[in-house]
Amino acid sequence: MATAHPQSPQNIEKNPGLHSHHAVLQVIKEKIMEVNDRRPFYIVNLDDIVDKHKQWLAQMPRVKPFYAVKCNNTEPVVKTIAALGAGFYCASSAEFQQVLNLGVGTDRIKYGHPCKDPQDIKLASKQGVDLMAFDNECELFKIKRLYPSARLVLRIQPQDDEDVYKHGKMYGCALDQCKELLAKAKEMELTVVGVSFHIGGLCTDYMAYHHTIRLCRDIFDEAKSMDYNLNLLDIGGGFAGYAVENNPTFSDAAKVINMALDEYFPKEENFEVIAEPGVYYVQSAFTLALRVIGKRVLRSATSAKVSEQSYFYYVNDGIHGSFCIIKSFMADKLVGNFHVLKDDVQMPVYQSTLWGPTLNPDDLLAQNIQLPELDIGDWLYVPNMGAYTIVLASSFNGIAPPELFYFASDEITSGLGD
Ligand SMILES: *Cc1c(COP(=O)(O)O)cnc(C)c1O
Repeated sequence: MATAHPQSPQNIEKNPGLHSHHAVLQVIKEKIMEVNDRRPFYIVNLDDIVDKHKQWLAQMPRVKPFYAVKCNNTEPVVKTIAALGAGFYCASSAEFQQVLNLGVGTDRIKYGHPCKDPQDIKLASKQGVDLMAFDNECELFKIKRLYPSARLVLRIQPQDDEDVYKHGKMYGCALDQCKELLAKAKEMELTVVGVSFHIGGLCTDYMAYHHTIRLCRDIFDEAKSMDYNLNLLDIGGGFAGYAVENNPTFSDAAKVINMALDEYFPKEENFEVIAEPGVYYVQSAFTLALRVIGKRVLRSATSAKVSEQSYFYYVNDGIHGSFCIIKSFMADKLVGNFHVLKDDVQMPVYQSTLWGPTLNPDDLLAQNIQLPELDIGDWLYVPNMGAYTIVLASSFNGIAPPELFYFASDEITSGLGD
């Protein structure tokens, strides 16, 4: 379901001025005025991605970003990031093929899935996409058979504090097994070039990066005693895409990571350090506009007072569209808040519940939030919707995913070409 998103036409409209919230709202209103009864749509500000890249370079100059394509694979986004010179973290052959088609060299691609489809390994071999992950012995046998000259990166489990994203357990070699696995790779005459980890899930405890970077150093040293000369450290993804109150920001992460690198992987030793940010690059560039298509008034049985009314609203995008990730435990950091587009927002506010447009009773987007009374046809918007939204959308119930409108300043569109 996830791969076949029908992409909208990808003309990039020129608009150098979408930096303010107000300007984005203005463009949303223009799009709504353009045609009658528009379906849900996104406003994508590609300049925001350029800014993110610049901030990355300024704040973590030693770490080269390899954008995680799975987070948002829309063509203009991937193209923009390619034009910026970043690398790409790919999970499948379709992803590395998409990036290769844009002219990105294999030295800027990591095929990072620890358990790869054999068919995809063959395609990687054919294309020379040789930097790839492993975290278990069976994967080594597979790679030995299909692509013996690949350069391998050992993925380890991160130092696990309670709130580290659960999938830390799904992938990654346990620390007490790394030595044995490296010995196995040696015995099979495979080339191991580095170590990676992924804290993931927008971790809120950036010290996890510090602890895990220290562990990586131990593994580098251990590998040295086994006659390996590792020189690539990959610190994964999990970086915040916008500032959320009471949560550490990207700058906080950058400080912790820079310090850990200086301590355990000092510059003089010339290690190459990369990361795999997904959310960080794309989350804040996307604003979704959607509409109320149904309404139910709920009156409490014991009171006829209007002030105690509450409302159900049915909107035209839901968990089978842009909000699939809402069912995950970290949804509050991945999906933005609902806002009313009307300028003259009326008081008072009422308890409101937002449902998606499908017939699935799980298609629930927000419960008991405070909104002014809305009418059918009113528009809502949700900022920060670029990460793990469009890539997960299906057309369940025959409802197509939202349309996409891309904007960029002259400067980037001219650099992108076609
Ligand atoms: C998904 C993924 C990423 C990207 O994570 P974000 O939270 O989007 O930054 C990076 N590395 C690995 C191994 C992943 O699976």
